[in-house]
Amino acid sequence: MARKKDDLRQETHAAHAGRMSREHFGAVNTPVYRASTILYPDLAALEAIKIPYIYGRLGTPSSRSLEEVVRALEGGARTVICSSGLNAIAVAILSVCSAGDHLLMVDSCYAPTRTLCDKTLKRLGVETTYYDPTIGAGIQSLVRANTKAVFCESPGSLTFEVQDVPAVAAVAHDCGASVLLDNTWATPLYFDAFAHGADLSVQAATKYIGGHADVMLGYVCANESHAKRLAQTHDHLGIYASGDDCFLALRGIRTLPVRLKRHGETALALAKWLQSRPEVSHVLYPALEDDPGHALWKRDFVSATGLFGVVLKAIPHQALAAFFDSLKLFGMGYSWGGYESLIVPSTLHRTASRFNAVGPLIRIHAGLEDLDDLKSDLEAGFAAMKPHS
Ligand SMILES: *Cc1c(COP(=O)(O)O)cnc(C)c1O
Repeated sequence: MARKKDDLRQETHAAHAGRMSREHFGAVNTPVYRASTILYPDLAALEAIKIPYIYGRLGTPSSRSLEEVVRALEGGARTVICSSGLNAIAVAILSVCSAGDHLLMVDSCYAPTRTLCDKTLKRLGVETTYYDPTIGAGIQSLVRANTKAVFCESPGSLTFEVQDVPAVAAVAHDCGASVLLDNTWATPLYFDAFAHGADLSVQAATKYIGGHADVMLGYVCANESHAKRLAQTHDHLGIYASGDDCFLALRGIRTLPVRLKRHGETALALAKWLQSRPEVSHVLYPALEDDPGHALWKRDFVSATGLFGVVLKAIPHQALAAFFDSLKLFGMGYSWGGYESLIVPSTLHRTASRFNAVGPLIRIHAGLEDLDDLKSDLEAGFAAMKPHS
């Protein structure tokens, strides 16, 4: 990774940023802090709020350490740690949108983001219009006088369309709207949110940052102009992440660069192999040269991570069940970004764009297992599918 921030490369930041060993008897890692009350040494300190930590909800060394690594990796002026990725999305939107405002949301967003817009934001008086993920500068035609924010997610959940984020951001900023980006797929290592025009960069740290399928966490990182509103909204809503969860995210982030590289390599090899399979219609992964999003991905991303989509040829449901049920290494379950391979069938919710699939759409997360073992597992799955096809 050539990109530099604070004169050090991201691998180095991942290993070094946010460590406070001297404050913790030399321990390499910041310990888990469990604290509600923080005791003040004297009345003068209490009256002046003159201690580094004030109250558990407002931060402990565990959360500060994590904020510091995120700052080093993302750039940005302010980071808030949230209890989940969805929580981070909600805080990001609520820090820019108020009653009477209009939000432009990408049609390929993470499904619970859509529910948030259609239910709670609607109830609060924020109106959402969905836009085609490939819209680019054409988003101009959807902007209204009260458009406050454009929310991007690239590549899109389940269907992996790459957005022209800089083009969308240029239009949004021209119209005085903020740009919010769910950057969970690429992480700050593979897509520089702020350099491509985002004002708020959201990460479901549950996925690659945690990396071990054992923590729910999120964060939002803001540029200078959005730092204050983000911090205030996070504070006013009382959002808090536990010291234990911050510790796990910190542990995960230290190895993020090596894990991502391996996830990406295995995903690309699996994606290419799947393209050659007779059971597969096509593979949705922007690192593939014939993917419609490949040129944009190549222009804007450093590399690709381990999550991609596969459209199978039309088969009876029984055949799909035989395929899924015979897999031994690919676990069937939601979320992704852990060290283990996963597979799930995908159901799309779209209102502004069409996605045509001849057969079932599935989502694969390439874990850190041996590539040939993973291929053999899928091969056995395809064999089990055959008698039902
Ligand atoms: C999983 C996911 C989220 C939500 O994260 P949680 O921690 O599960 O709330 C948000 N965006 C994307 C793209 C995701 O994949």
